[in-house]
Amino acid sequence: MLDEIQAIDVIEKLKEYLLQQAPLLEPELIRLKETSFEDRALSFYKTQFLATVLNINDQTSSGKRKLRKIFSSIEEPSGNTPDVLDESVVSEHVDVLYQSLPMPKREALKREFERFDSFAQTSGSVDNSFGARLRSCATLVAAVAFLEEQFSLLHGLRAYKFLQAINYPVVVPDHARQQFLYRLGWIPSKGKSAACYQEFFRVCDKVAQLTGESLLSMNRMLGLYSGAERSEVPGLAICIRKPRCPRCVAAAYCAYHRYQAAPARVPRVPIKEWAEDDRPREKYKKFGALKLSNAELLSIILRAGTGETSAIDLGRRLLQKFKDLEGLDNTSLTEICSIKGIGEAKAIEIKAALELGKRLLNRPIASDQKITCSMDIYKSYRLRFVNIRQETFFMLLVNTKNQVIKEIMISKGNLSSSLVHPREVFKEAIKESAAAVIFVHNHPSGDPKPSQDDIAITHRLKEVGDLIGIRLLDHIIIGAKRYYSCADEGIIQNR
Ligand code: SF4
Repeated sequence: MLDEIQAIDVIEKLKEYLLQQAPLLEPELIRLKETSFEDRALSFYKTQFLATVLNINDQTSSGKRKLRKIFSSIEEPSGNTPDVLDESVVSEHVDVLYQSLPMPKREALKREFERFDSFAQTSGSVDNSFGARLRSCATLVAAVAFLEEQFSLLHGLRAYKFLQAINYPVVVPDHARQQFLYRLGWIPSKGKSAACYQEFFRVCDKVAQLTGESLLSMNRMLGLYSGAERSEVPGLAICIRKPRCPRCVAAAYCAYHRYQAAPARVPRVPIKEWAEDDRPREKYKKFGALKLSNAELLSIILRAGTGETSAIDLGRRLLQKFKDLEGLDNTSLTEICSIKGIGEAKAIEIKAALELGKRLLNRPIASDQKITCSMDIYKSYRLRFVNIRQETFFMLLVNTKNQVIKEIMISKGNLSSSLVHPREVFKEAIKESAAAVIFVHNHPSGDPKPSQDDIAITHRLKEVGDLIGIRLLDHIIIGAKRYYSCADEGIIQNR
């Protein structure tokens, strides 16, 4: 919906355009701006009240007759009102119309008529008080609030209609204006919901206050632009049934225009109609998992998309929203379900697949695995450290054939000599009768270059190992896609 600032812009653009095309309009708009609401006889207000509440058209002669008869039936229950009625034009149908109203409604009408009378009585004058009270309302919304408070039968859109009927300044949302306002997005729908109009009138009030225009001149401008009101100038109306969009000064705000100008939507081609090599499952079978992108792998888990989105697009949307697989893993089920097309079942399947992947990565190095070089260690630990955000220090116990006996986690957190104490470290190695040990730890920063602490700990462990006859074969630091081997770099030397 248009906000107040945009609505002000629209009204200013409309005025500029109208005055450019029809300069003679200016005095009329000024006059409308200066027109104030005039007091009328109380009977006029009551008649318009009846017309609004009973939905009777007071512009036709039969409508006028009905109103007069009902009016007199309420004021004089006997119906004996010879000064009001012209018996020659009152048909029996009119009596029937009033009598057919349910009793609670007839009583409500009487009560509301008495409310009108009470204004006259309190003011001491005959007709002025009701009009004066309305005039004292600073805004249209305040006037509606006043009516709603006083009359139970006037609420919401009915109150606006009553104000319109008594010539109170109000923007009239008739069919043509409504069409223009709807295209602009100023009113959310063509429906006649009271809430939608309340918001519309609130914005109108605000625009009137901020621009200094009156609601009457705004109403006239909207009417001229939408063709609801005639003008002497041909072609002045722009947003008519077949709108003249190229000439429209409000096109920047027009949702209808944007939609029309948008390129035709390309219909989605279902995955099963894609070339075989492009379909994720066929691609997997033919080329293996490594050839598939993350979105394609996700699409295999998701199995199907929605009517508008393919499974691959859903996969892309997931990665776009949560940045990468890691982001997706750290996201709650509810957040995953917030993506259109992904329900709870699919979200759980994705989470389950990620969990399986993590478990696979976290499995310890196989015992009996023979270590021949630093690369063997790197290959075994490379993926395990991917999701670990803390420095984690492992010790591998190996036998005389360099086969792994056991893996032990020594510490988690920043590596320091207090966390990696040689006595504690070698206690396990002695217990398991290890011939040698290898230390492995990660650098979450991604840079495997050893720190001063890393080198100091390595020297200490090497010295203690040599003392008790358990060789330190290597200390390997794993970074992102790289590693550092203290043995390969000459920091550890075994003869
Ligand atoms: S751009 Fe066209 S449809 Fe939109 S408001 Fe202007 S005339 Fe009406």
